[in-house]
Amino acid sequence: MISESENRHRHEVIERITTQISRHVLAHYPTPLMRAKRLSETLDGTELWFKRDDLISFGLGGNKIRGLEVMLADALAKNANWLVTGASVQSNHVRATAAVAAYAGMGCTAVYWGKPPATVDGNYRVTKMLEAAFHFTHDDDRASVDTHIQQVTVKLREQGQRPYAIPRGGACVMGVFGHVLAVFELYQQCLAQGLEPDAVVLAVGSGGTYAGWLLGIKLLNLPWKMHCYTVSREPEQVSQQVADLATEAAALLKLDWIFGVSDTPVHGGFIGQGYGIPSPEAAEAIKRVGRTEGILLDPVYTGKAMAGFLHELQSKQFDAKKIIFVHTGGEPAFFSGKGDWLNTSHRAV
Ligand SMILES: *Cc1c(COP(=O)(O)O)cnc(C)c1O
Repeated sequence: MISESENRHRHEVIERITTQISRHVLAHYPTPLMRAKRLSETLDGTELWFKRDDLISFGLGGNKIRGLEVMLADALAKNANWLVTGASVQSNHVRATAAVAAYAGMGCTAVYWGKPPATVDGNYRVTKMLEAAFHFTHDDDRASVDTHIQQVTVKLREQGQRPYAIPRGGACVMGVFGHVLAVFELYQQCLAQGLEPDAVVLAVGSGGTYAGWLLGIKLLNLPWKMHCYTVSREPEQVSQQVADLATEAAALLKLDWIFGVSDTPVHGGFIGQGYGIPSPEAAEAIKRVGRTEGILLDPVYTGKAMAGFLHELQSKQFDAKKIIFVHTGGEPAFFSGKGDWLNTSHRAV
């Protein structure tokens, strides 16, 4: 049981920190916290819950909206009229940014690594429809996006625009704050629903979301253990990035907390052949969750995180009993690319 005084203290923290973070709310909150009843029955005593950030109602949703709500408030305060960001052509973050720019009446430039793809589908189709300007780096190195975002920003400024640059994947302090607020939201929801989880499972890309969860959990002193699965970078690399972002965000809140890689463990081993390439393990996890819960995971992030989680649960590397899986969204990836990577057989009646 949570003690009365601890609860009161946490509410004070929530109140104090929330007033320090400007947010332009774009969707309906809280997103549902749902028990995965049928799936849990197959998990040998583990009770699994989904935090449904895939149901964020704005611009096809996903966790990226939470970060963008804080960035939008910051951009408006700085009188910006143009959002510049980047990642891969199938990026959820870029699609969400283009939707935010449209909503705010701002311009938007999407910087993508590589060359223009042959097919227009998935998130790329949506981002195109939203009339973002495109800039391809013609370099397959993902980091090429970073320098090109800078170049595009300088050019826009020379043209008299007031650009607001958002780092690749949305991994920046403002974004981190959006996810701190998600922890506050979930805590209050757990109280209301009488749930005391002991672990939270999350897919990790560029690390901003994890940094926010880490900071939020520390701010409230919650006994929630984070289990994070990388889907793109190597675990050591993303661990460092998460620690740096969390430290930077804490400093802005005037807390001298230094996070190191020992605070930010990341599970590897479930990327498969690479970022954005569906893996057989993720396909199995997607089918299992879809067929027991009617919840659609995505092949790029949540499917791989779920594959990692189910694997570790099976090999008894988890001692947690009540676990919340943060469904961060990403379904548009379902509608991009060819091939039956789900390996679904035809069923006769
Ligand atoms: C971006 C993304 C993540 C990971 O968020 P990061 O902040 O980049 O680590 C997880 N799930 C989905 C669906 C995403 O689009």
